[in-house]
Amino acid sequence: MKKHNFYAGPSILSQYTIKNTADAIIDFAGTGLSILEVSHRSKEFVAVIEEARLLVKELLDVPEGYSVLFLGGGASMQFCMVPYNLLKTKASYLETGTWAVNAIKEARLFGEVDVVASSKVANFSFIPKDFSVPSDSDYFHFTTNNTIYGTEIRKDPDVGVRLVADMSSDIFSRPVDVSKYDLIYAGAQKNLAPAGVTIVIVREDALGKVERPIPTMLDYRTHIKKDSMFNTPPVLPIFSALQTLRYYKQLGGVSAIEKTDIAKADKLYSAIDGSRMFKGTVTNPEDRSIMNVTFVMKPEYQELEKDFIDFASTKGIVGIKGHRSVGGFRASLYNALPMESVDVLVNAMKEFETKN
Ligand SMILES: *Cc1c(COP(=O)(O)O)cnc(C)c1O
Repeated sequence: MKKHNFYAGPSILSQYTIKNTADAIIDFAGTGLSILEVSHRSKEFVAVIEEARLLVKELLDVPEGYSVLFLGGGASMQFCMVPYNLLKTKASYLETGTWAVNAIKEARLFGEVDVVASSKVANFSFIPKDFSVPSDSDYFHFTTNNTIYGTEIRKDPDVGVRLVADMSSDIFSRPVDVSKYDLIYAGAQKNLAPAGVTIVIVREDALGKVERPIPTMLDYRTHIKKDSMFNTPPVLPIFSALQTLRYYKQLGGVSAIEKTDIAKADKLYSAIDGSRMFKGTVTNPEDRSIMNVTFVMKPEYQELEKDFIDFASTKGIVGIKGHRSVGGFRASLYNALPMESVDVLVNAMKEFETKN
């Protein structure tokens, strides 16, 4: 049966990415060798990483003066690398979910952290709006998409200081004004590639301002100088990332992708809002993520949650169980998920509602 993959991460990748990765595992670029067994310094792989770098710059319209890096360690490594390299005395953070909490914890190891606002009291079900960022902050850090809680900030905020963002779960789902940012990072396994590589886009002039010594591997300048080849980079995930980036370009770039993403999310949110049985956990439409749609059953139907997951699986739907800190359901609608899968989910919800 055809599967409809709603996993939150690792998550669905385009067939183009998967097919080309499978081919390269057998024979990479006509070398007669698998991508798994070639040197990262071979000319064939150097061509891969260079094209990937250029495509990131092209798709996100990255201005001059920024470097694009492909690093290991996941987005979680960036929680410490960012303050290590950028926090001189004080940084401001917006607390909108578990990932933000983790980022704040690491930043506190390096200096003063001002948590300018938090939605923790409401289990992170909204995006705080009424806050101001102290003008003496070295940067303002926020999570653009809260993968667990289904909230998203789809604008590049004007807060009076330089921005730093964790875009792990919504990068390449909208145009970004990169010039407002000192640094953007994103783990690959939500909208790009298998786990193992993290994209970092960093403004070169923002570096070299802190007094503390930085271990070589954790210093962005090491990786800028060596074009992400200081040590062995995650070769296979970078190859897959390149396939996805080519695919995004073929689709017409991030503006075209955004339109489809919004259409998919609108369809699912209206099914939830129009339902007798289901309800969304993020009530303010402005805050709703177009990547991760979180919803639950109304209290009178709550005991049917497990049944719905079982019913959905008979339709080929996988990965809709909500994160334990929210419960209910989470349907992740990443770029690679086709509209057809949203239709299957919406129809399953309607059929289940009629039956119960
Ligand atoms: C998944 C995720 C992370 C964690 O990524 P790792 O690569 O597992 O470290 C961090 N931030 C956000 C927003 C995420 O969705």
